[in-house]
Amino acid sequence: MFAVSRLLVAAATVVASISALVGAAHTAERSRCDRDRFRVVLDVGHSLDAPGATSARGVPEYQFNLLLAEEVEKALDKGGFAKTILLNTFGPARESLFKRVAAANALGADLLLSIHHDSVPQFLKEEWEFEAQQYTFSDRFRGHSLFVSAGNRHYAASLIFARMLGRELQTRGLGFTPHYATGLMGPWRRTLVDASVGVYRYDQLIVLRTTRMPAVLFEAGSIVHREEELLLASTERQTLIARSILDAVDHFCALRSKRYARSRVSSRPAGRVD
Ligand SMILES: [Zn+2]
Repeated sequence: MFAVSRLLVAAATVVASISALVGAAHTAERSRCDRDRFRVVLDVGHSLDAPGATSARGVPEYQFNLLLAEEVEKALDKGGFAKTILLNTFGPARESLFKRVAAANALGADLLLSIHHDSVPQFLKEEWEFEAQQYTFSDRFRGHSLFVSAGNRHYAASLIFARMLGRELQTRGLGFTPHYATGLMGPWRRTLVDASVGVYRYDQLIVLRTTRMPAVLFEAGSIVHREEELLLASTERQTLIARSILDAVDHFCALRSKRYARSRVSSRPAGRVD
């Protein structure tokens, strides 16, 4: 019941915020997505100096993030979103976080998607040997997850995009991981905002909270899961994810353009038809 009323409140917030959302970025009256104008910033999670998690076979997360982000950039570019920017930041962890936020804000983007790959807390990891080297892994959880922050000034829009992306991934047979909502996760536990497509709330995340555009963080899957790591490294999976993102971006862009056009029509003086 509690969850249902939360969802209703979230839905009402979404509806109430639509007109504010659509008016901000677009000046053209179009009923469909204006791909030439719509700017997506693809934030490559972590950096060369602070590469994030380590996979079950010792590969840094940053490498996975970069390869997938490049694949997504290619798909968006091919799909007509020529203003897409790949944000690859350098430097230590915290410093690179603030750099990426400042860069995204300065670019005047319509949407920020931060691309990551998941791990598990240390207490869930086990040891194994791969090619005569010791590594840690966890085959317990697999699947992607999407995060939004209620601290972002475009929270409603962020949630809309996260749901759209969740649906596109689901349509292509990719499942999300429900484990972030379980008590086992302790301090890493998150509220599942949309239990049908795997959208969680993570209010404190700097890259989501302090960016001045709708922003979503995408964990593409678990690289500490020994089987999923191999799938995530494959071109097939990267292409599938890239296509999902392209379609979700297109729906999101079209929705904003359509609502904007509608709000322009309803604000015209009565009796005037053109
Ligand atoms: Zn990460």
